Amino acid sequence: MSAVSQILTVERVSELRAALDVARRDGGSVGLVPTMGYLHEGHQSLVARSAAENDLTAVSIFVNPLQFAEGEDYGTYPRDMERDREMCAAAGAGLIFAPPVEEVYPQTPVTAVSVKGLNAVLEGQFRPTHFDGVTTVVAKLFAMLGPGRAYFGEKDYQQLAIIHRMAADLSLPVEVVGCPTFREPDGLAMSSRNVYLTAEERPAATVLWRSLQAGRDAVVDGSRDPGEVEAVMDAVLAAEPKVSPDYAAVVDAATLERPDVLVGELRLLIAARLGRARLIDNIGVDCDRL
Ligand code: AMP
Repeated sequence: MSAVSQILTVERVSELRAALDVARRDGGSVGLVPTMGYLHEGHQSLVARSAAENDLTAVSIFVNPLQFAEGEDYGTYPRDMERDREMCAAAGAGLIFAPPVEEVYPQTPVTAVSVKGLNAVLEGQFRPTHFDGVTTVVAKLFAMLGPGRAYFGEKDYQQLAIIHRMAADLSLPVEVVGCPTFREPDGLAMSSRNVYLTAEERPAATVLWRSLQAGRDAVVDGSRDPGEVEAVMDAVLAAEPKVSPDYAAVVDAATLERPDVLVGELRLLIAARLGRARLIDNIGVDCDRL
């Protein structure tokens, strides 16, 4: 039997809990990789990490309407369930949870999880309802699956920081594991949304990674002024006219606040629009380890 025919795919929470109960009966550990599908090697790296650290890895595939605002790409978000099943199986997942919307939201939720402050900066300025949609669905997935560990990509760095904080504030019995960003050979961070880029736009998309590297180099070279580092990033972005930046920022890696003077662990983050796509990327630099 091929790996893909062995992977169990369930759509109902009741089936999901039954399958996980069996896996846990003899003390087996469960790792969860939450995704919106249309998987790529970045997702697979999370699945492989979970498969190495847990007895059973479950991948959730759910395009969560709650985290999309009016006018965003909820209706057109790319989907390919058959290919996703193959990619999950190849990376070592044992179970896929792919619920229909009504299974996750049988009634319009009036309860929300909101990680205040962290949800309002950076991406929050452009997508004010986004992170409450993310934290609410991730809290629900944690409740549905009860994983011991859950794996998230640094690609969505603000999301990772928010989920860390949610798990700590709510004493959730889950270890949140952050995983490095998987990139194309030219540096573009892999993303399901890269499919929106046309052949003409695709080369311009590398400007985010080039800008982040230039910003990091400025810190490595001794700059401790956030405005100066952001100006370096802005200049690289400005040289690519196809790209319209939303922000290029340097913040404290834990609080996501912009310090007056750069010290300790920092994160440089960029969001920019390119054609139909809105791209985000980030890089870390630790001033104490230079
Ligand atoms: P998504 O399907 O885009 O919601 O992403 C699901 C998970 O995969 C999130 O934790 C993302 O941060 C992570 N992820 C997406 N792209 C990458 C990448 N290029 N490298 C590593 N993790 C990623």
